[in-house]
Amino acid sequence: MTALRIGHGYDVHRLTAGRKLILGGVEISWEKGLLGHSDADVLTHAVMDALTGAARLGDIGKLFPDTDPAYQGISSLKLLGEVGRLLREAGYEIVNIDAVLLAQAPKIAPYRKQMAENLAAALGIDTEQVNVKATTEEGLGFTGSGEGMAAHSVVLLEKMGLSGNL
Ligand code: MG
Repeated sequence: MTALRIGHGYDVHRLTAGRKLILGGVEISWEKGLLGHSDADVLTHAVMDALTGAARLGDIGKLFPDTDPAYQGISSLKLLGEVGRLLREAGYEIVNIDAVLLAQAPKIAPYRKQMAENLAAALGIDTEQVNVKATTEEGLGFTGSGEGMAAHSVVLLEKMGLSGNL
């Protein structure tokens, strides 16, 4: 028996001067960056929360507390790799990942492919299993005003060889 499980992740970070902008593990040259305890990679955080949600592993705040100095400034791709390890340990395989970044600027299109490659590499899956896209919110709300960025992700996991409950 094969079981499929879906998960959704959502994250927000504030934009501020004097920080690097890192999205999907890609450092983008921009006037502001995202504020956070780690590298504040909002896209990768949404993906991690979707994965942990689908596997019922809690959330990234529980797995990697922002009060822990070990995670200060850490690359979120490293944390994603750890999530991938936990998933495999729990018997899950990733079917696919979709993610959308909500940002007024800068233009994300030139970096989408590299972001998908980075996320896939961190998880040890094929790039074809990962899709990254971006949208503006038409100048509305906190992403529209440039106060912050948000990201959503939906993932599908597969658990093989089940004989009982999920
Ligand atoms: Mg976050």
